[in-house]
Amino acid sequence: MGQGLASAGSAVAGTDGGGADVADATVGDAKLTAKSVGSKRRGGGASTDGSAGTRNRSSGARARSSRLAAQDGAAKSEHAPKLDGLSRLEAANRLESMPRIEIAPGLDPLETDFVVSDRTRAFRARFYAEIEDREWNDWKWQLRNRIRDLASLERVLVLSDEERAMVASLGDRLPVGITPYYASLMDPTDPSEAIRRTLVPVGAETIESPIELEDPLAEDSDMPVPGLVHRYPDRVLFLVTSFCAVYCRYCTRSRLVGKTGEYHFNHAQYQAAIDYIAATKSIRDVLISGGDPLTMADDRIDWLLSRLRAIPHVEFIRIGSKVPAVLPQRITPELCAILKKYHPFWMSVHFTHPREVTPEVAQACGRLADAGIPLGSQTVLMKGVNDDVPTMKQLMHELLKTRVRPYYIYQCDPIPGSSHFRTPVEKGLEIIEGLRGHTTGYAVPQYVIDAPGGGGKLPLLPNYVVGREGDWLILRNYAGETFRYPDPIEAPKAPSRNGCASSTPSAAKSKSAEHGRTRCS
Ligand code: SF4
Repeated sequence: MGQGLASAGSAVAGTDGGGADVADATVGDAKLTAKSVGSKRRGGGASTDGSAGTRNRSSGARARSSRLAAQDGAAKSEHAPKLDGLSRLEAANRLESMPRIEIAPGLDPLETDFVVSDRTRAFRARFYAEIEDREWNDWKWQLRNRIRDLASLERVLVLSDEERAMVASLGDRLPVGITPYYASLMDPTDPSEAIRRTLVPVGAETIESPIELEDPLAEDSDMPVPGLVHRYPDRVLFLVTSFCAVYCRYCTRSRLVGKTGEYHFNHAQYQAAIDYIAATKSIRDVLISGGDPLTMADDRIDWLLSRLRAIPHVEFIRIGSKVPAVLPQRITPELCAILKKYHPFWMSVHFTHPREVTPEVAQACGRLADAGIPLGSQTVLMKGVNDDVPTMKQLMHELLKTRVRPYYIYQCDPIPGSSHFRTPVEKGLEIIEGLRGHTTGYAVPQYVIDAPGGGGKLPLLPNYVVGREGDWLILRNYAGETFRYPDPIEAPKAPSRNGCASSTPSAAKSKSAEHGRTRCS
């Protein structure tokens, strides 16, 4: 059955003119990288001779023939496994009927539907001069050509000795993975630059502290079926892939991302999770995560969402992803058309630094927002990356401009080798203090600590209650001015039949103090 899903994935991925191996991208990096060598297109039909009409006909014909080939293959495979009750032919037909964005005749969507910012264009001219817009804007090309090893990294960055030594000796640690697009945002000569620090390993990763754990949130111990974390009665975390467009050095799930590990993100595992959700009526909210779910092929995302949406008690579906920030090319009109079928559908987008919010990212988030998907941000607080008020404020402002509502700032989880990223909790409070009242309320996220061992998210706030004076609460505002707010202590109520007065805790306290006892007994 798993093979059936992957096969259908390949067929459908082939219909949009990209590498038919993108469904395979979720299987493993080694396979993806190996294929990238053979499948790299030179020109790919998108010549630079100005024959836009020729390019379009070639692209359209290729897409049509891919779709027909998919249908033809489906028709021939009469024994092919069913996908959600659909044969492959029916699945291919369903894709055909999906709404598509129409563009002017004679233009190639991958050349015209995506913006490319000046900075990224300059980077491309220097390091990817032979790559045309059509390839660069193709998310599958970006994935196939991720920077994964020392040689590719040294091609685009001047590495410090420390970085070079770490990349060369990673062993079974979290691998390096950087999309060419995201590499274009890094400072090529400064190892302390924020975005670079989050993806290029340094020696401090080898220093492990006793408080750090492989699975600090104890997710693995709350899985009724593999890949499904069920901790709270009404919601589940559904891990669907270990593959990411980039690998973040601080990732809470670094125990599983970038490797297969003990999870098998295949159809059988998905089905077991879906069956569990369907059988557990208390579950009203499903968060799909990983790895990064948006690295999966369109049809696999469609299949998962359709199965979840078919469960009557699942009210709310959301996806957590860093893809809009690191691979904005993935947010195609076709993907948006799929996602918008499953409302109410929300998305949490992982952002780290204001420089991530490029014109490409604004376009990607705009497409998601136009598809009616509410977007909330999640940001990990990291030393030397974003641990100051001006940087965080700028990030939150950029997000609002991009139609993303700042949602969470997380204290960096204690995974092994992460202490160089972790700030004191005081720093997070200082940042919230520097935002609240100093900018738009919508620009102020919640600062939370994910309690170790699975205690859930604990919100932390600076203390705005200074004290109490009788019936007055003493509060302070963002500017440090104090205010008295009327908050009368309730008068003691009439004694109940057992002779105990029912009253507020403070009233009870003063009353009991009067009587020399602390509780009714
Ligand atoms: S994209 Fe998300 S899941 Fe993947 S490595 Fe980064 S933080 Fe982890």
